[in-house]
Amino acid sequence: MTSAYDTIVVGAGLAGVTAARELRAQGRRTLLLEARDRIGGRIRTEEFAGLPVELGGAWIHWNQPHVWAELTRYGLAVTGDEEPEEVLIPTEEEPLALPADDVMTRVTDLLNRVFRGTDRYFPRPYDPLFRADALTEFDRCSLADWLDRLELTEDERTMVASALSTELGGSSTRGAVSMLAQWWALGDLATHGYYSLVSLRPEAGMGALLDAVLADARTELRLDTPVAAIDDDGRRVTVTTRAGERFTADSAVVAVPVNVWPDIVFTPGLPGAHTATAEAGVGVPDSVKLWLRLATDRGPFLAQGAAGAPISTLMPHALVDDGQIMVGFSVDPGLDISDHAAVEKAVRVLVPEAELIEYRAHDWGRDPFAKGGWGNRRPGALTTAHRELRRPHGRLVFAGGDLADGWAGCIDGAVESGLKAARAVAGLDR
Ligand SMILES: Cc1cc2nc3c(=O)[nH]c(=O)nc-3n(C[C@H](O)[C@H](O)[C@H](O)COP(=O)(O)OP(=O)(O)OC[C@H]3O[C@@H](n4cnc5c(N)ncnc54)[C@H](O)[C@@H]3O)c2cc1C
Repeated sequence: MTSAYDTIVVGAGLAGVTAARELRAQGRRTLLLEARDRIGGRIRTEEFAGLPVELGGAWIHWNQPHVWAELTRYGLAVTGDEEPEEVLIPTEEEPLALPADDVMTRVTDLLNRVFRGTDRYFPRPYDPLFRADALTEFDRCSLADWLDRLELTEDERTMVASALSTELGGSSTRGAVSMLAQWWALGDLATHGYYSLVSLRPEAGMGALLDAVLADARTELRLDTPVAAIDDDGRRVTVTTRAGERFTADSAVVAVPVNVWPDIVFTPGLPGAHTATAEAGVGVPDSVKLWLRLATDRGPFLAQGAAGAPISTLMPHALVDDGQIMVGFSVDPGLDISDHAAVEKAVRVLVPEAELIEYRAHDWGRDPFAKGGWGNRRPGALTTAHRELRRPHGRLVFAGGDLADGWAGCIDGAVESGLKAARAVAGLDR
């Protein structure tokens, strides 16, 4: 029997659409199956207060070569957000407002001290296991373990934990310090500074990039089609949707988030590294992104929450007549984003005088087709599972930002992984 398609791609996030485009360039007949009523997955450009805003992934940088090349390819311009003039930092009483340049320079210097010398673990940062021999013990460390080894004052330790709190999902014990060290090496953050990671985004929105890649993929796309099962008999792959439709192909690219792998029945079952990684979960589990219109007389400001605060960070986006548009993150499972009063109360922990006029939020941790947010590798995961996860399993190739060699858990990683998945599919036939 011949298969109806050469390759089925499951999941139309940036990794999936990139893989579909590359497979098409190889001359393959592809089918792209997506559970939601839209493409993009953890990238979602929407309108808020009359402005295009990102409810998911937003920031990119020229130190992220895969996504940067995509912007060049499609002629997409970048822009930045409003620069903060002051930073509000938490104290035991009222938050303290300090000049932004001073605080950001102090944080940058401190983080560079924390990661000084760790580039020896990642001399070729896109080949993260190049120094696997030296990495094992370091990879087992959480950020907290690593900070224990450094001579930092209590204030400095609090400042590091607070600056990285959003990235690490509010816990300095859950995420591997090796992921942050790899970022420092990948992005030369010792030169560009940590804040370079949140400085640029596509002017037309990340959605414009997704649309451009999809148009180039010229693939058959089915939205509202969650996949329930993937069966690989060694010659063909059969993909069954929750609605009971079946599609066959010579191979499949599984480009859904690692955290939703357990919701798909794989036959034969997934290897141990896959099941263990999905069980432990990747990425920040409680991850809410908020867009807020605040009435306040302040100029543009950045506000940092103390450990355990219901909102971990507020960042300036744009000034408007009656205040400002800010983007915020919460990694607190207790924040009820459907309750205006609760969100305003959470904002006032960071900015006591602010009035919340309107807001929009998405909870990626509770989203059934994401089950988590941005990148956050678990201690030990790089050295114990990464190599295995990158290998094809029979006629299945796994893709996604979660699995990237370079900027894992990031937009650049999604593109990298989509490109590599298509090459891996070509390799199956050799
Ligand atoms: C709030 C937030 C902020 C972020 N900020 C940044 C940032 O500023 N910069 C950055 O670099 N990265 C950021 N990230 C991370 C970045 O957005 C992701 O790493 C990247 O978009 C992942 O792309 P992907 O294609 O691998 O996965 P996804 O985008 O998750 O795509 C997977 C697709 O699979 C689909 N799917 C799931 N289950 C099924 C099923 N059963 N059947 C069919 N389809 C299914 C999903 O609906 C989805 O469309 C952020 C993420 C979040 C959530």
